[in-house]
Amino acid sequence: MAEKYVLAIDQGTTSSRAIVFNHEGRIVGSGQKEHEQIMPRAGWVEHDAIEIWQNIREVVAVALADAQVNSDSLAAVGVTNQRETTLVWDKNTGEPVYNAIVWQDTRTGKIIEQLGGDEGQDKYKARVGLPLATYFCGPKVKWILDNVEGARARAEAGDLVMGTMDTWVIWNLTGGVDGGKHVTDVTNASRTMLMDLKTLSWDPEIAADMGIPLSMLPEIKSSSEVYGYGRPAGLLYDVPIAGDLGDQQAATFGQAAFEPGMAKNTYGTGCFMIMNTGEEIVPSKNGLLTTVCYKIGDNKPIYALEGSIALAGSLVQWLRDQLGIISSAPEVESLAADDNGGIYFVPAFSGLFAPYWRSDARGAIVGMTRFVDKSHFARAALEATAYQTREVLDAMEADSGVTLAELKVDGGMTMNETLMQFQADQVGVPVIRPVVAETTALGAAYAAGIAVGYWDGEQDVIDNWAEAKRWEPKMEDGERDRLYRQWKKAVTRTLDWVDDDVKE
Ligand code: ADP
Repeated sequence: MAEKYVLAIDQGTTSSRAIVFNHEGRIVGSGQKEHEQIMPRAGWVEHDAIEIWQNIREVVAVALADAQVNSDSLAAVGVTNQRETTLVWDKNTGEPVYNAIVWQDTRTGKIIEQLGGDEGQDKYKARVGLPLATYFCGPKVKWILDNVEGARARAEAGDLVMGTMDTWVIWNLTGGVDGGKHVTDVTNASRTMLMDLKTLSWDPEIAADMGIPLSMLPEIKSSSEVYGYGRPAGLLYDVPIAGDLGDQQAATFGQAAFEPGMAKNTYGTGCFMIMNTGEEIVPSKNGLLTTVCYKIGDNKPIYALEGSIALAGSLVQWLRDQLGIISSAPEVESLAADDNGGIYFVPAFSGLFAPYWRSDARGAIVGMTRFVDKSHFARAALEATAYQTREVLDAMEADSGVTLAELKVDGGMTMNETLMQFQADQVGVPVIRPVVAETTALGAAYAAGIAVGYWDGEQDVIDNWAEAKRWEPKMEDGERDRLYRQWKKAVTRTLDWVDDDVKE
């Protein structure tokens, strides 16, 4: 029999990727295309879902050509996606009623305040594992229904459906208006604020609070099962679509973090640390999210604690695009000074996520003196990612009672040696990068391959995982603690900045 492969589609925040993997979990072909970041106002971020679907068609074709295989050689397709980014479309025409509202978008600030009322930010936390924040989907759907003319009536008539980007991609892959499957998986559903973590079903009371008809919501499936088959003629025709995980959960899967207490941190646009907590739902007392890690077919769900950091690699992009002090992201490393020159850069551009969850915070650079130059800006930007990661890790150890022995890392910023060394210095444990740094796509591929029997199960993922590089902590404790203490102080300077009467 000819060799078979698994294709992963990774619908990310800045680009869409398609990657063909072989049975050893190695990359044999890939395609990637960026899409437009639409920013109509400060704090608003949108994507054109039609552009994204078109890009996916293109990158799938490029990946197959690059791997020199056709879709007949694919055992399965897995989908992973930027989480929380929310779309509402007409199921009869396939037309979105509004651009996708991206996870970073802060327009729902007022809505979440109203929803919280006297009970505040943690109103739904016991049920959904999440604090009320602009980050999650439900309030974004409410915003669309409240603000797009006629949308609410069409939703109530059963014509409109909602979905995160996995749902949009799978619906289109499996036929769209022609019988497309309207599904999501437990990990994506766990980021909507609408799913009960225990029952893994939609919570009708929360949906009612947000004015979202239940008929709009996709069917919640496991992360690894056949959802449907490729339909659009010529594009993945008849291939089983069999894996679906939010990007960070997919990376956790691809990093083989299957045991309770194992954790990974992904350094991309934002930074996301996830710790597997097994079958136990661990509520956070320290500003983390409780979320679903994955669910394979009929097996019990596996849960996780997560620390989400809104800005990491995107701060490097900001140095490049808005400040113009570097011309490419990797250049930040050669520009960065050996120390921060006394400055701390807290990138609370869209408020602070974990462990603070403060939408009233805004960015600050503190400690400025006449001595400071752009090399310190570069250094401070890199250090910001490492300090934020340490804050999340401290919270994770406090919530779980587990002391991490090592930190598995992945994502675009892990190519930065300076950052990885400083990260090891700050967390005080070895930082380890695997051979296949594309763990997000890899995790989605594994989930799909396991569903169709291409891989037997988690043990194959563990066997295929291999270490590429390790950074050991070197900094002495006094210096490590002094820097972190200063960082904490810098964070306090960003809080309570946005006043009610400030227009953004
Ligand atoms: P995403 O999947 O979120 O789009 P990636 O994992 O592709 O992100 O990582 C891209 C991010 O990493 C960008 O924000 C970019 O600025 C940053 N980045 C890429 N290379 C480097 C580098 N050498 N040093 C620091 N940051 C980098």
